[in-house]
Amino acid sequence: METTKMSSSEYIESVIKKVIARDPHQPEFHQAVKEVYESIQPALDANPEFQEASILERLAEPERVIQFRVPWYDDQGKLQVNRGFRVQFNSAIGPYKGGIRFHPSVYLGIIKFLGFEQIFKNSLTGLPMGGGKGGSDFDPKGKSDAEVMRFTQSFMLELNRHIGQFTDVPAGDIGVGGREIGFMYGMYRKIKNVHGTGVLTGKGLNYGGSLIRPEATGYGTVYFVQEALKDLKNDSFSGKTVGISGSGNVAQFATEKVLDLGGKVVTLSDSGGYIYDPDGIDRDKLAWVMDLKNVRRGRISEYATHFGGPVEYHAGRRPWEKQMDIALPSATQNEVNGAEAQTLIDNGVIAVGEGANMPSEPEAVDKFLAAGVIFGAAKAANAGGVATSGLEMSQNSLRLGWTREEVDQRLHGIMVNIYKMAAGAAKTYDTNLLGGVNIAGFLKVANSMLEQGHWA
Ligand code: NDP
Repeated sequence: METTKMSSSEYIESVIKKVIARDPHQPEFHQAVKEVYESIQPALDANPEFQEASILERLAEPERVIQFRVPWYDDQGKLQVNRGFRVQFNSAIGPYKGGIRFHPSVYLGIIKFLGFEQIFKNSLTGLPMGGGKGGSDFDPKGKSDAEVMRFTQSFMLELNRHIGQFTDVPAGDIGVGGREIGFMYGMYRKIKNVHGTGVLTGKGLNYGGSLIRPEATGYGTVYFVQEALKDLKNDSFSGKTVGISGSGNVAQFATEKVLDLGGKVVTLSDSGGYIYDPDGIDRDKLAWVMDLKNVRRGRISEYATHFGGPVEYHAGRRPWEKQMDIALPSATQNEVNGAEAQTLIDNGVIAVGEGANMPSEPEAVDKFLAAGVIFGAAKAANAGGVATSGLEMSQNSLRLGWTREEVDQRLHGIMVNIYKMAAGAAKTYDTNLLGGVNIAGFLKVANSMLEQGHWA
């Protein structure tokens, strides 16, 4: 084969070139592929069989892409049309698993970047889950509950054909929380006349959901950083100033866990800007934010008006210009650029844990690594959400519900284990923690593909 004549680094670059040439208008997907492939070279050097079996080419090509029309009636009775996606990326180690995102920026490139990352993240959890992702360019902001319901039901009218507990199990992501999962599950059940199959995760507790699933991504991110701090710096969250972006699911529960561990959270944000509260966001203020975001669906700027005093609101800006010991970007992709990373470093940041998917631009990642900042890459640091989705699937299969303590303990154990796997791979392959994360996630999938033959 032509590729076997190349060195690992030439092979990697040739595959990246092909990926870009094939879909030139999907920059987020290119970024995700580059980040993984450029960091796993030591594993390819040690395992030439991956190159011989064209594993990198196969991994970068989704097993299946589904794109569909989603018509729905708005409150004025006008028929609107959005676009829906499900990318079933890789099922070598289990059924496709990954969230659904509703956001106007969604197009195929975003779903492919997220689905690609999900392959390695799910592998890291140690649970049998393949990688997938879905979504729509529907914007839930400003829509009534009835509009969200009609849209979501129409989305499921098509999606139902492609999912199932042994095939593909979606969950939430940006713009898809408990309300949307409820509407989707209700519609799925109506179409299929089945119940209790664990076809979706993030379900409500009344109908098959798991305790701790809403908390899991945010908690897990903090658990991962906690373990890294302990191992690498003999340090902890106690007394640390923490900056968090976003104010949705991940940000809210990351804030809660930081408070549990004795840290002080000073920022939260949304797409309008960020708030800085030098006194710290305590439990009462966090409860107010949860009501604002999950019930009243308001803007984070209202925090400054409501609490006043020393609280600042910075419209159109991001939190990274403030001093913080630990940064947990938990809003969206590419929300920390190189200059912001430099400001964080200059202000003494010691650890970054990516609650969001791919929040750091490549230049920011390079700066964190070069400065010796503990860098918890998203695939590892935010894997707690999907891991607990895996636990929800297990409970659904067992027809049992575990206690809050039991699920939290398992989540904590999984996050510690992910850290140890990544740190172990970094040591074995003489690379940094980012390389360790990607290699540990990659090896299990790549070996499974080898063992299952060329069509797998
Ligand atoms: P939510 O929809 O609950 O919250 C998203 C938050 O990020 C909101 O505050 C939102 O502000 C902000 N945000 C979204 N897009 C942008 C943007 N383009 N610019 C600035 N701010 C933005 O989503 P989640 O908390 O669930 O997801 C946050 C991140 O975590 C995403 O990257 C997601 O992929 C990742 N993640 C989520 C998991 C989960 O279990 N939920 C699991 C693993 C990763 P606004 O309301 O103004 O849009």
